Amino acid sequence: MPDPQPAREVITRSPEETIRLGRELAAELKPPLLILLSGDLGAGKTTLIKGIVAGLGAAAEDEVTSPTFTLIHKYQPALPARTGPVYHVDLYRIAGLPDLETLGLDDIFAENSIVLIEWPDRLAFDPGRPILRIRLDHLDESSRRISLSPHRSP
Ligand code: ADP
Ligand code: MG
Repeated sequence: MPDPQPAREVITRSPEETIRLGRELAAELKPPLLILLSGDLGAGKTTLIKGIVAGLGAAAEDEVTSPTFTLIHKYQPALPARTGPVYHVDLYRIAGLPDLETLGLDDIFAENSIVLIEWPDRLAFDPGRPILRIRLDHLDESSRRISLSPHRSP
């Protein structure tokens, strides 16, 4: 068994740099994958997701907004696509610890998809697919520390 990849830490100094990081990261991603993004409000989760989704060719940056009220956005890459569908989930308004079925999210884990979840601590589940955890922290008004910890399948 190869060693798990080491955690990576990047500091970005503007939203544009965070988007660029997301675009670079997208080149390394392949489905099936679950990406869990944690960090306070305004830490830059949605901004990073803009770069990832754009880098995957699934939508333009300005089409990516937080699905706070709709829970989930689906971005379908144009063909020929390097990835399957990309799902963006925001659990900020979810109360308790619902499971995937209750939220109607079980279907998206049956697809060869890339799933990005903001506020993943509000969900209790075993996704049965590789997970990339990303933690974003405020350093100051325009700087963020972005820590990436790849994990193998559960
Ligand atoms: P979250 O989804 O974590 O609540 P958003 O991505 O919606 O956060 O918002 C991040 C806010 O912080 C935006 O207003 C953005 O312009 C600002 N910002 C300032 N510096 C950065 C940075 N280095 N990276 C990302 N966002 C930044
Ligand atoms: Mg957000």
